[in-house]
Amino acid sequence: MHFAKLNRTFAAMSKDRFYLIAGPCSAESFEQLDVVAEEVKRAKHFYAFRAGVWKPRTAPNCFEGYGEIALQWLSKVKDRHHIKIMVEVASAEHVELCMKYGVDVLWIGARTTGSPFAVQEIATALTSYPDIPVWVKNPVSPDLALWIGAIERLRQAGSKQVGAIHRGFRQYNFKPYRNAPVWELMLELKQEMSDMPIICDPSHIAGNRSYLKEICQTAINMETDGLMIEVHPCPDEALSDSEQQFTPEKFFEIYSSLLFRHDCASSDKIEQYRTVLDGIDKELLSLISHRMKLVAEMGELKKRENISVLQFERWKKMMDSCYKQCEKLGLRKEFVDKILSVIHTESMRLQNEIFESEE
Ligand code: PEP
Ligand code: MN
Repeated sequence: MHFAKLNRTFAAMSKDRFYLIAGPCSAESFEQLDVVAEEVKRAKHFYAFRAGVWKPRTAPNCFEGYGEIALQWLSKVKDRHHIKIMVEVASAEHVELCMKYGVDVLWIGARTTGSPFAVQEIATALTSYPDIPVWVKNPVSPDLALWIGAIERLRQAGSKQVGAIHRGFRQYNFKPYRNAPVWELMLELKQEMSDMPIICDPSHIAGNRSYLKEICQTAINMETDGLMIEVHPCPDEALSDSEQQFTPEKFFEIYSSLLFRHDCASSDKIEQYRTVLDGIDKELLSLISHRMKLVAEMGELKKRENISVLQFERWKKMMDSCYKQCEKLGLRKEFVDKILSVIHTESMRLQNEIFESEE
């Protein structure tokens, strides 16, 4: 059996460099890792080669990673290419196995960050390895305190190099991305922990490679300290996350087209506000689109049951409850009136169209 020499190098983590992490979602074979490492190691800012060995999947019966044998492939790749290798850990056992095979950098996945017992277990296992860099992904839900809590558990257990990864948040019916980026939350974390690098994982935000470039550029505009990007030799055949992975060629094409900013002038700050506002607009449209789909479904039902499109009492009740809410939210009643009336008019137009349509 092959074991990597434990030649880890521990340059302190800093905010003065850009961290590019690239590699496949999952380690699938030595050859797959070898091909991707050969390419991505040449990229500017390259920091570490990622690959999932244990995959926390939402549903059972999905590919859950090759485990220890994949660590053997990775340690061979590390020796051949002289690169740092990076693996996701979700338990103390994972930490010990990673240490055994010379893994240089660890990350904690979104599903694990949200579980304080699991994070504590990992933090405790890491007390013997205080110099190993650990990157903590945000929890699945936009809960800043939970994210910070995980970072603090690691720091309190003695980890000297802890960074954060913004990988987006699960939001009900959010489209078109797989996970909603919440840039304001990233800024809040930056304010709370200004010495810690915070990078972005556009692959898990996008869920689809066609959106990756725009998310990478936005992250850079928001002064991300790095990017974690999934790269696979044949993405369509990948055993996990096939839609969001890049081929090495596409990765280079996109990565070299990104505009990096070195210092942040006041116009860049304005750009950051715009990015946050653009994100909010995207969420608003996504919610409105969801609302319209439900309105259409209800239209079908009303038609079948022979119920009229407009029900004045229901409309009045809804408006009253909105007026009460706008006081609390600091919104002017006239303004809210206008927005709701436009939405309501469109909803009625849609239901009338359904009423008039042939069966
Ligand atoms: C991953 O990086 O492959 C992964 C599982 O990510 P996340 O924890 O962000 O879902
Ligand atoms: Mn993945």
